[in-house]
Amino acid sequence: VAESWFAEHALLPDGVARGVRFDIADGRFVNVTPGAAADGATRLPGVVLPGFANCHSHAFHRALRGRTEADGGTFWSWRTRMYSLASGLDPDRYLALARAVYAEMALAGISAVGEFHYLHHGPDGRPYDDPNAMAEALRQAAAEAGIRLTLLDTCYLAGGLDGDGHLPLDDVQRRFSDGDAEAWATRVAALHEDANTRVGTAIHSVRAVPRDAFETVRHVAPGRPLHLHLSEQLAENDACREHYGVTPTVLLDDAGVLTPATTAVHATHVNSADVQRLVASHATVCLCPTTERDLADGIGPAREFADAGVPLSIGSDQHAVIDMFEEARGMEMHERLVSRRRGRFDPDGLLDVLTRHDRIGWPDAGHLAVGRRADLVAVRLDSVRTAGCDPAQILFAAGAADVDTVIVDGCSVVQDGRHVLGDVGALLAKAIEDAWQPS
Ligand SMILES: [Zn+2]
Repeated sequence: VAESWFAEHALLPDGVARGVRFDIADGRFVNVTPGAAADGATRLPGVVLPGFANCHSHAFHRALRGRTEADGGTFWSWRTRMYSLASGLDPDRYLALARAVYAEMALAGISAVGEFHYLHHGPDGRPYDDPNAMAEALRQAAAEAGIRLTLLDTCYLAGGLDGDGHLPLDDVQRRFSDGDAEAWATRVAALHEDANTRVGTAIHSVRAVPRDAFETVRHVAPGRPLHLHLSEQLAENDACREHYGVTPTVLLDDAGVLTPATTAVHATHVNSADVQRLVASHATVCLCPTTERDLADGIGPAREFADAGVPLSIGSDQHAVIDMFEEARGMEMHERLVSRRRGRFDPDGLLDVLTRHDRIGWPDAGHLAVGRRADLVAVRLDSVRTAGCDPAQILFAAGAADVDTVIVDGCSVVQDGRHVLGDVGALLAKAIEDAWQPS
């Protein structure tokens, strides 16, 4: 045993337990003992939870926070700002920005992130000398911030979709595209995994990838995580129906894209036939509640998915907020508003959606149990937000600021609410200021 920790309260797989001792060796839990003595172990404050899995991220979108609400603040004015930001990033700026963003995630209790990565190339779409330079920046950023990375390298070929078909890429979007699916597949084949990195793939959306490219994409990394944006906005459904005559879900399912390895992100505007397609294909859904409300997307049918047997995970997506407590609560609170009923998801249901490391290729993480990766998050029970809470209901009260300690694969990344890299607010401020400078 390399290290031992002791928690007054912990959320173990069968419920909340008292006086839990965690023995860790080689990055894994070797003993998890409730009702134990603290002798020789380091005491953790509050209640201990498994590390969170942030299953959908675009790291660079963090630089848009608090900068898109002027001029009407529509989805389209947001997108214009996002494109203007993307046009100024290079691998050095992206390393600094992503490192700070991933450190912010660690401070929020996130131990692994699924990065939906489409900002591949240089200005005008010319590849860097290393065509995966941007991916390498993300890999280094996650390693330095102390969280695991699943690089979901994203195929992005078209500028949009309307009834007449796919639109050409605009100037900014050229950075996202490899030209065709084969070139994308060749570049992805050069990516490699390491102890802290998994490689998966993504289809940006039916708007950005034509049907005839699906076959190539789904064969690049079979069995690895394959993510895609699905029916985030009604306009996507309308264009898809007009061009293909079916919904995006049916289009993808008929092409064999929906499998147990597939995670559909958002799935906000799906009908019951679409839900049945997701059930039958054993695909899963990743909700991004704070993004879906920020961008006025709508409210996805979370309870309907869960009742039908579609597993749910959570992502902070564009990072208007990086707070997984808020994301999980958002899922439940949106359901309450829609259904006018409380208790749509219980505390165990919220914890489950926050710990779906399996959806991003880390099936041995997500539980405080022997043999699992030693990820844990200690959440204070004595802050102004959490004082007086039942530890079992902590997800309904806490926020990211209540995270005191974060351990990832047995390594201490956050202690006393401070990240090993130091002042993460200052790192973010500098990286965001640089990201907006003309390149
Ligand atoms: Zn997204």
